[in-house]
Amino acid sequence: MSQSLKIDNLHATVDGTEILKGLTLEIPKGEVHAIMGPNGSGKSTLSKVMAGHEDYTVTAGSVMLDDINLLELEIDERSRSGFFLAFQYPHEIPGVSNANFLRAARQARLPKGEEVDAVAFYKEMYLKMDELGMDRKFTGRSVNEGFSGGEKKRNEILQMMMLEPTYAVLDETDSGLDIDALRVVAEGVNAMRSPERGFLIITHYQRLLDYIVPDVVHVMYDGRIIKTGGKDLALDLEEKGYDWVTKELVPA
Ligand code: ADP
Ligand code: MG
Repeated sequence: MSQSLKIDNLHATVDGTEILKGLTLEIPKGEVHAIMGPNGSGKSTLSKVMAGHEDYTVTAGSVMLDDINLLELEIDERSRSGFFLAFQYPHEIPGVSNANFLRAARQARLPKGEEVDAVAFYKEMYLKMDELGMDRKFTGRSVNEGFSGGEKKRNEILQMMMLEPTYAVLDETDSGLDIDALRVVAEGVNAMRSPERGFLIITHYQRLLDYIVPDVVHVMYDGRIIKTGGKDLALDLEEKGYDWVTKELVPA
């Protein structure tokens, strides 16, 4: 049985325009990979295609989560099979409290006939909120409604901590966070690093990678991975800019 999140030759379009143009990437369990790249490279498209967003059409390629063909599953099945996405722009869900949302998501993971233990659930949620420096008032508020940018990002990480995915994709979780919030979020991610879990950290800036040190760094440009290296690649990009890698490319 393979133990990785494996993206192979992925092509995807939106409104007939090809955005992902043959993207190949493998994240073995236990590793943290980062994708960096200029705005518009298709980073969020990649994350939303994996999550099953209806705006995007996969025209070729595959995404395997261990031995499961992720692209054949419904969105909720993708989540229950261990995939998690922290959105760059988290959605607001008016009328659904954060606590009820998380509880329903946990309930959906239990075998038929089993119920979430409410006392244990709240205890765990409060503990994790404390770790993230989130006030308890956020349990009763509608999911992300009226949250600040930074509060939404923390809430995405709370969801991740409560759902304990096998593979987590974090799309620009650092944007909108001040340095203290960034540290708290990074600690939350680092505490979840495990031989049983893989992470894909999408970021425009190197800064987050000072706190979540990746095993592998990929550069994405124009719908593909154009360079892969170790954690120092992020530092080189910070110093030299993206032009440094894109100008190595032979014009099509
Ligand atoms: P990144 O996250 O790397 O900044 P995106 O994946 O958000 O890049 O966007 C890649 C390209 O795809 C951009 O040109 C963007 O305008 C386009 N795009 C992404 N989603 C949509 C959509 N739903 N409708 C139209 N164009 C889109
Ligand atoms: Mg993006």
